[in-house]
Amino acid sequence: METTLTILKPDSVAAGNAGKILAHLEEEGFTLRGLRVMHLTQAQARAFYAVHKERPFYDDLVAFMTRGPVIPAALERDNAVAHLRQVMGATDSAQAEEGTVRNLYGTSIEENAIHGSDSPENAVKELAFFFGEADRIASL
Ligand code: GDP
Repeated sequence: METTLTILKPDSVAAGNAGKILAHLEEEGFTLRGLRVMHLTQAQARAFYAVHKERPFYDDLVAFMTRGPVIPAALERDNAVAHLRQVMGATDSAQAEEGTVRNLYGTSIEENAIHGSDSPENAVKELAFFFGEADRIASL
């Protein structure tokens, strides 16, 4: 079993799609191991996306991610990281494969409904960012 980090982004929460996306993920075999609702501060969003700080879209991305509440969740499944990336679809919602979360609920390359860790190493770091030690140990 592996655990990965997802974030239902502000567009999903504002549109009332959070419950549907969580149900979609459960139907894909993920078990919820951690769940919270939070409105990210500028500092939190900048830190979470620090890897993108030189990219031209960084400031827009931070503004988007701090626009309203998000739902970070820890998701457990075999091959969780790779499977979540498949279930999410391509970054650009317009290019996302039919039936993927971004195809169903995303509206652009930026407002693409959902985040998912892109490697097992990043999943460990991103889970640590949003969930405390007790949550992480419980999900191992
Ligand atoms: P992901 O791993 O598929 O989420 O994609 P990336 O790590 O490359 O980008 C992180 C997030 O930045 C994406 O999920 C989008 O919300 C946003 N993003 C990526 N590329 C672009 C872009 O070209 N323009 C804008 N405005 N946002 C982008």
